[in-house]
Formats: sequence, structure tokens, C-alpha cells
Amino acid sequence: MNALSKHFFWAIFALLTIAFVFSLFYTGQEAPEVLSLDQLVAKINNNEISKIIVSGNDLKIELKRNGKAVSKKESESGLSETLKNYGVEPMALQKVSLEIKEESGARFWLAILLPALLPLIIIGVFFWLMFRQAKTGMGQAFSFGKANIKLFTQFKDRITFKDVAGLKEAKEELLEVVDFLKNPKKYLEIGAKIPRGVLLYGAPGTGKTLMARAVAGEANVPFFHISGSEFVEMFVGVGSSRVRDLFQTAKKAAPCIVFIDEIDAIGRERGAGIGGGHDEREQTLNQILVEMDGFDRDTKVIIMAATNRPDILDPALLRPGRFDRRVILDLPDISEREEILKIHSRGKILARDVHLRRVAERTPGFSGADLANLMNESALLAAKKNQNFVSQQNIFESVEKVLLGPERRSRVFSKKEKEITAYHEAGHSLIAASLKGSDPVHKVSIVSRGRAGGYTMKLPIEEIYLRTKSQFLIDLAVMLGGYASEEIIFSDLSTGASNDLQNASSLARKLVTKYGMSKKLGPITFGKVEEMVFLGREIATEKNYSESMAKEIDKEVKDFIVKAYETAKKIISSRRSVLEKIAKTLIEKETLEREEFESLIKKFKLKPIPIAIK
Ligand code: ADP
Ligand code: MG
Ligand code: ZN
Repeated sequence: MNALSKHFFWAIFALLTIAFVFSLFYTGQEAPEVLSLDQLVAKINNNEISKIIVSGNDLKIELKRNGKAVSKKESESGLSETLKNYGVEPMALQKVSLEIKEESGARFWLAILLPALLPLIIIGVFFWLMFRQAKTGMGQAFSFGKANIKLFTQFKDRITFKDVAGLKEAKEELLEVVDFLKNPKKYLEIGAKIPRGVLLYGAPGTGKTLMARAVAGEANVPFFHISGSEFVEMFVGVGSSRVRDLFQTAKKAAPCIVFIDEIDAIGRERGAGIGGGHDEREQTLNQILVEMDGFDRDTKVIIMAATNRPDILDPALLRPGRFDRRVILDLPDISEREEILKIHSRGKILARDVHLRRVAERTPGFSGADLANLMNESALLAAKKNQNFVSQQNIFESVEKVLLGPERRSRVFSKKEKEITAYHEAGHSLIAASLKGSDPVHKVSIVSRGRAGGYTMKLPIEEIYLRTKSQFLIDLAVMLGGYASEEIIFSDLSTGASNDLQNASSLARKLVTKYGMSKKLGPITFGKVEEMVFLGREIATEKNYSESMAKEIDKEVKDFIVKAYETAKKIISSRRSVLEKIAKTLIEKETLEREEFESLIKKFKLKPIPIAIK
């Protein structure tokens, strides 16, 4: 639309210009009065003329009473001769100043040529406009080659290691890079080879982009940022020209950091087949490799790249001299989470009672980005409620919102539904509270959230990297607690337990096929997961075992579930009064926090039950 109106404007402009040129030669001469020669002579005799300008046969006459006129003389004779012939009085003529002008050649020719040229000019302008249009189209195509890089100047929003919480090992690794960028001479003089490429990897939101910027900020050098997907534009040859462009710019700005975010978009293993032998991507990747190889030893450009899929990267990228430095960014552990929360509560007004450690306890598996988002959600929530500070309650509520979706208090529960949900959740929490070695219950609630009817939040106190078989068995029993409770209390089952059953089945299957935790089948894994590149996730499991083995596996899975179910059922039947108490309190209060739940349970003086390991 914009382009169209622009062309329209130019067309109008051209027409106006032509009209203006015309008016110069034609209308401009027609405006003054035209005098015949005898009129002119009469005016001279009457002393009305002050000046006559002769150019060729044209006479421009200036009248004494401020006016102009034009006339023509005979072409064969001079002016005075002509005037004499018409009977001018010599005395009167003397009072008129005469000026003879050479006829201007250009004007003469134009006057003759323009009418003939005009059609040609119009056609010319027309073609010119068409050409212009074609050219802008081409210009856009060409400008695709210019790399779309963002240069972060370091003055305004400089990010340093201080803004990155945790990630101690990663920082230590990267300090070397920082030091090189600061004092390259020291390294070059001793003959050290400088790392060319540093590959950051870690789950989404673990702070890869943040870390790369922090390195640039620490070293105080320019930082070129380009994302992998920006390279991959479906335009043959453009990908590699962008790379060339980028590296040229970087070399000029050295020492500097070039950061290629999400490099898996280009650096995916070549010829991986599915996903289309993407020619363009390969060219781009090749160009990156060529450029990196072409660096001199003292080129002070360090390439950093980030990915969350190191497994699918082309091995050529990881060769020495390319991305040979690999830095892993892990999901934060509990104290790192606390630190991240601290960083992201800067500038927010927190209530005195806010205990970020408690929040960190409740957020295992959250990435840095999740935690940043959490703090923001809490602040939004506080503002929505017109508070002037963020309370602990706001933050907890946001944790659940981030985990499970917003609370749906408006969902209408029938009385019966509420009762079923209460007994279901009481079942989960009772099993968790009864079994020895179970993680403590942080919260039980029958307020529906997202798609869950109610929920029991059971979290480890400390960060756990290894889980044992007995912990898994406890988890299974807790998962089946809701189902068992519904069955015992109502002698009926609801659909509310279907999600639990799904989770329990998949966990039991993992125990058997992945962790080798089935005694009968022993320390073997079954099934090989094929990664299909274009989707980038597990979509097919190759069956590398026989039909009869499949039967065995199914039997073992079932066995795990049945045992867990029996454990749950036994606990619930024997501690029915506790279950009733929890359920009734839930119906009344809807939500029990950890302290409330624990003081409620304490009265019954329950003895921890060890889980039977089969
Ligand atoms: P990635 O690139 O790994 O997906 P980002 O670097 O974009 O993740 O992180 C997203 C946001 O999460 C950051 O802008 C920052 O606010 C927050 N964040 C992530 N990790 C940390 C951390 N370790 N310390 C502080 N903030 C973090
Ligand atoms: Mg990122
Ligand atoms: Zn449940």
C-alpha cells in the first residue's frame, strides 16, 4: 500500500513537472497583451512605452503604466526600419530604450523540439517509474544479504556476572574468555592458542543468552547478537552471505564477541535425512566453519553459541579449533534458585514476611526464566489486588499459577464433586504422610487449577539428583492414594483419578524398561528411543525385544502398580479416621498449607510405615 501510494505520488509529480515546463514556453507568453505593429507605433507616438526588448522577431514591450505587452516585427527588416514603415515619430522613438537580445539558442531549439519530444519524454518517465519499482524490489533482495545483527553497546544496559545468579562453574570457565578479551597480549605472547568458539548449553531459560551478554559486559567489548533462525531464511545463498557479512563486521570491531543464539537451527547434523536435506542450512553451516577456520591466531574475535540441543549438533562444529569449549548451564538448585529470586526481586517491594528460601523450596525444576517470570507474576498479582507490596502469599499463588494454570474458584462444584475431590486429595496426602521416607506435603487443595480438580503438592526438602527405587515405590503408592481412597469411601470411582493412573503407569514402565528396577527382568533396558530430527523430540520407540519379553514387561509393570495400590489401600483402611479428618477439613477450608496439614496429622501420632521393596 505504501509503495503504491509512493508510485502514485511520483506519477503526479512527473505530470505536474511537464505541465510546468509547458507553461514556461506557451502560457507564459500568452498572458501579456498582444499588440499589432500599428498599435505599437500609436503607443510609441503617445509616449506610453518605456522599453522594447528585441529577441529575434519577438518584441517584449514594457509599458510606462506598469504593464507588459508583446508583439512581432517583420523578420526581414530591423526594428526601427519596421517602425518607420509604420509611421513612428523619430522623436518619440528616441525616448524608448531599445535592447537587442540574441535569441537564446536553447530556448529556440526547445520551442521547436519540445512538441516533438513530448511523447518521448512521457514514455521515458513511464519507463523510469517502472524501472524504479523493479529496482526497489531488487534492492530488497540484495539487502537480505546484510546480516541482521544487533550490536549491544555496553554503556546503557551493561550486564555483568553480578546479574547472573549461581552457575559458578560456568562463570569460572568463562572468566578465561573474559581475561583474554581484556588482555589478549598476555596470551598471545606466551604462544597460547585462544579458544575460538564457546558453546553454551543448557535447558531453555537457564540463562544462556544472559550469560553470553554478561561475558561481553565483564570484558567490556562489543557484543554482536544474531539468532540461528535469522540465518535460515529461505533464500538461496543468502545464509552464507550473511555469515560472511557478520564475520567481516566482527573483525573490524575486534576484540569482540559474536553470539549465535540457538545455533541448532543451523548447526544441525548435516544430511540427517528427515527434515529435508536443507541445502540452505548446510551452506550456512559450511560458511561458519570456513570463517572460523580462516581466523588468524591473533584474531580477537570469540564466537559464542547457545543451544539446548547439543545432541543434534553437527560434530564438525565441535571439532578442536571450532566450538571446542563447552560450558554447561544446569537448572538451578535450591540455593541458586534463592539467589535468582533475589536478583529478580530487585526493584520490587516485598513484604517483611517474604521468605525466598521457602519459594525456592517449592520450585524445583524451575529455570531462571521461570523464576524471573514468577516474581513478575507475583508483582502483577499484588498490584491487581491493590496491595502496595508483594506478599509471600502472592508468590506462592503465582508458583501454583505457573505450575498448574490460574485458580478457578468460579468453577461450580456440586456438593458431591467437592466431597469426592476432598477424599481423593486426602488419600494422596495421607499416604505421603504415612510412608517412611516420603517427601513432605507442602500443600493440599481442592480448588481446581488449570485442568486439575485438586492437588497435593509433595516436594523434596533438598535437591535430589538421584532417586532410589524405594522413593519411586513411595511415589507410586502416593499416586494411587486418591484412587484407593475413592474406592474405599464411595465404593465407586470417578474420572478424577485418570491422570494419576496415567502418571503411575508411565512411572512403573520406566522403572522396568529404563531404570532396570524390576528384580525379575534385571538390569536391562528395553526399547531404543529414536529421535526424529525435524520434530526434535522422542516420537518413536524402537522395539528391540521380543513379543514374549513384551509380555513379561507388561506383567512387571502391572505388578508394580498392583503392589502400590495394595499398599495405599492398606494404609487408608487402617487409618480411615485420619482420612476422614483431612477430607472434612478440606471441604471446610479448601486449602491446607504445610503447617496446617502437619499440625492436623500430628494429633494422630502416626507411625511411619516403611515401604516394602519387592
Ligand atoms: P536461555 O537463553 O538459556 O533460554 P535466557 O538467558 O534468555 O535463557 O534467560 C531468560 C531470563 O531468565 C533472563 O533474562 C533472566 O532474567 C532470567 N535468568 C535465567 N537464568 C538466570 C540466572 N542464573 N540469574 C538471573 N537471572 C536468570
Ligand atoms: Mg536464549
Ligand atoms: Zn489425584
